[in-house]
Amino acid sequence: MTAFENPDLHCHSIRSDGHLTPTELVARALANGVDLLALTDHDEIDGIDEALAAARGSPLRLLPGVEVSTSFGGETIHIVGLGIDHRHRPLAEALAVLRAGRAGRAARIADELARCGVPDALAGARRLARNPELVSRAHFARHIVACGLMPDVRTVFDHYLATGKPGFVPHRWAEVDEAVGWITAAGGVAVLAHPARYRLSGSQLDTLLDCFQAAGGEGVEVVGGAHTEEEMRRFARVARRRGLLASRASDFHGVGEGPVDLGCCNPLPQDLVPVWSRFC
Ligand code: AMP
Ligand code: MN
Ligand code: MN
Ligand code: MN
Repeated sequence: MTAFENPDLHCHSIRSDGHLTPTELVARALANGVDLLALTDHDEIDGIDEALAAARGSPLRLLPGVEVSTSFGGETIHIVGLGIDHRHRPLAEALAVLRAGRAGRAARIADELARCGVPDALAGARRLARNPELVSRAHFARHIVACGLMPDVRTVFDHYLATGKPGFVPHRWAEVDEAVGWITAAGGVAVLAHPARYRLSGSQLDTLLDCFQAAGGEGVEVVGGAHTEEEMRRFARVARRRGLLASRASDFHGVGEGPVDLGCCNPLPQDLVPVWSRFC
């Protein structure tokens, strides 16, 4: 069915909130036997040229990608774009606007954290962000861990940064159909990222997927670092029922952060149509 044995179609470099450079990510993926890797930084594509250069002449094919932040019914929804033309101007311009909204949001997160007794969080998060345009909640979480206030990033999210927690600041990202439009106009395939993570009822998820597919979205992450076996089975059923392409995605950010290393997710259920059939 497919020419790829170990695809991993979602990961982050230091150009967003990952710990490795694009070159280091490619090297780690190669060492783990990955043969198709998508670099999907949050709202950012400027690591792709470095990743492509690192993969050139190796057995690994690098797929240019992005993870676009969107808002839907009060929840933040991530849409991954795979196989994009990262030089497509309208996409680059739309992502620049999204990144620009992060600075004010970061300042507001820091204000909320100060109220919770976490001082100087903005300076701390900025220090950890290697891309000044891309301060993410992950940088705030790492700063709080580095200060010794919480044992690990997960605990920080549970106490402060997850939706509705005291350090959470609602933010208006892109619309779902807009993001899908940017991705498809840039020649990419739009994939709904880590669908089990969203706090949506069954019918809200259906509405989201209706909107996503009507806009031209074609894939869903079925197997991923964020999914349990049961969630994997649930989204395999969703993919079958809706005729969605299935993706396999570690969402790797760095060693020791997150449950799965590059290329170490379970295989996709055999009957699903893999999203990488588009890239064979
Ligand atoms: P942002 O784009 O600034 O909202 O940050 C989102 C990022 O925060 C995600 O991509 C993850 O890297 C991280 N994140 C979100 N939720 C969690 C969580 N529960 N545990 C650990 N990291 C998380
Ligand atoms: Mn992230
Ligand atoms: Mn995500
Ligand atoms: Mn991600």
